[in-house]
Parts: sequence; structure tokens; C-alpha cells
Amino acid sequence: MNINKLIRPSVLNLKKYSSARDEFSDKKDDFQFMDANENPFDTEYNRYPDPYQKSLKKKLADLKMISHENIVLGNGSDEILDMIIRVFCEPQKDEILSLSPSYGMYEVLAQINNVTYKTCRLNSKFQLDVKALLNEVSKNTKMIILCSPNNPSGALLQVASIKKVLDDFKGIVVIDEAYIDFSANSSFINELAHYENLIITQTFSKAAGLAGIRLGVCYASQAICKAINKIKLPYNVNTLTQQKAIQFLKNIDKMKSQIEIIKSERSVLFKVLESLNYVEKVYPSDANFILVKVDDANKRYQELLNFGIVVRNRTNVEMCENCLRISVGNPQENQKLIYVLKEIDR
Ligand SMILES: *Cc1c(COP(=O)(O)O)cnc(C)c1O
Repeated sequence: MNINKLIRPSVLNLKKYSSARDEFSDKKDDFQFMDANENPFDTEYNRYPDPYQKSLKKKLADLKMISHENIVLGNGSDEILDMIIRVFCEPQKDEILSLSPSYGMYEVLAQINNVTYKTCRLNSKFQLDVKALLNEVSKNTKMIILCSPNNPSGALLQVASIKKVLDDFKGIVVIDEAYIDFSANSSFINELAHYENLIITQTFSKAAGLAGIRLGVCYASQAICKAINKIKLPYNVNTLTQQKAIQFLKNIDKMKSQIEIIKSERSVLFKVLESLNYVEKVYPSDANFILVKVDDANKRYQELLNFGIVVRNRTNVEMCENCLRISVGNPQENQKLIYVLKEIDR
């Protein structure tokens, strides 16, 4: 597959902006910098950040056992997704195909970029019907976005189905793995060598517990990473974020133990939810939230709110009528949630 044929011609022909810190970011101690009009007095942050985040990428590359050239970092995975769309999708011509229901930002980002967004319905188990999906592919379909585990269902998509899409679709396949750390499956990162058209997005916002620093990750072939780097704003990941992420990666055991707690709390919540009279269905989850179908979502949402608990009302989302999406909290929060869930069960 020739990735360059999928890239927008204007991006392919783009001459990359060379920032003041491009060449010298890893030689900080060897030179006297008088090239970027920074304030020379040391405030710890008076210098621009490394535009390619070399130290952070090295740590991440070691952890994921891939090359730093297969990584692009962004201001949250939302920025990563936006950049991917801008690299590949020609406004008013190309189309993005995704699933329904899935993450709402895909459609918003497509609209912002004036790119047509189409969806294929998941089946009643929130699984992907590959045939139906590929049926929706038109000559203008440039990209398919799959979210696994999916939001808001919490369900993993079947690996065999995703592989079939990767094999049969001749455009870009993005797999959003925001919740992969809570799941039983391993990441598609291991498949990067097999699929040149594969892009995986991950985020520090969920399992890593760092939603506030805004850091998203893209794993893809070097050809794709090179193209994204061409359009990436030079200083999209700030110094504080890079430092905090490096610090985090030095001790990921803490995250691993938190994930174990969240997963066991998830099964406790699952059982409690199933026992409630007003609950009609609890959907199995491979993420850190549970989708639950109740008798009257608006009513139950308001009742929880009256007790000071905010959940996500998804009743207006396709296939999610009367569904609430509840994030797994810490044990203390879940105890209160369980108390309230039972309290309103009358
Ligand atoms: C939360 C979430 C993200 C994270 O986005 P960030 O911009 O990295 O915070 C990405 N995809 C899905 C499906 C999500 O639910």
C-alpha cells in the first residue's frame, strides 16, 4: 500500500515549518541559545519545549517496544484525531466512516474539517458487522475509525473483525484505544508491522490518570508519522506536560494497581446494578465505565443528581435509549453510588 497516495496532495507537498528548537532540542547544555527570542532569565520554563518530545518518546518507545519514529504526541487524543483527519481527508470530498454508537468527537472533528461523516450501526451486542461496514465504503471513504473498547458501550470489538477491516479496506484504519488498559485484550500496537494503514490512538487521560495534562498518543507507520509531523504545530505539547508524563512513566506500577482496583470495583458495580428493579440491562464492559439501561433514564439521572452524583445520560444516543453511562469511581465513591442506587430503587 502506498500511504503517500492517501495523503492530501497539499500536505504531501507541504514544506515543513522549521522551528528554532528543531535541531538543538537535545543539545541544551552545549550551546548558548539566542535564536528564539525567549527571555534569557531562567524561570525553568523560559525555553520553548522540545517540538518532537524526544525524551518522552524514548520512554514511551521503550515501554511499548517500538521505535520513536512510530510515535506522534498531541494535546490529547482529540488533537491527534484532528491532525489525522487533516492529513488524509480532503474537505468536501473525502468521507470518514465510523460506528454508531461511538465517541461523539469523531463527528464533531469531521464537521469542523468539513468532511462527510457516515456511520454503520453496531449490532444489539454492540459488535461490529464487518460486511455491513464495508458495504458503506464508497470511493470517497478515506478513513474508518473504530473505537475498542468502545465508548459508550464499553465493549471490545472482536479482534478478527478489526483485522478483516484492516485487510479489506484500502484506506486508513484508526483504532481508538483510549480504554485498552482496562480491557482483557492487548493493544493493536503489536500489529503495526503488519498493517501500513493502521493508526492507533491512546491517551493519558483515562488509565494513566492524567486527563489534566492533555497528552494523546498516535502509533503508526513511519510514513504516517512523518506526514502528521508535517502539519503538527511545533510546540503542541508543552514542557510541563512532557515533564509530568516522563515522571509518570518512571513508575507505571502505581497505575497498574489502580487499574486492578478499578476492574474489581467494576465487577462489584456490575452485580449491584443487575440486582436493581429499575435496571433493564447492564452491558458488559472492558472499560472503566458501565452502560446501563434503566426504566426511565431522565428520571434516574435526576434522582442521582439530587444525591449529588453526576452520571452521563446517553438516552438520546442511537441504540442507547434510556441508558446511563456511569464511570467507575474510587471505592468510597462507589459505596456512595451503590447506597444511592439502592435508595432510589423503590
Ligand atoms: C476519553 C476519550 C478519549 C480521550 O481524549 P483526550 O483528548 O485524550 O482526553 C479518546 N477517545 C475516546 C473514545 C474517549 O472516550
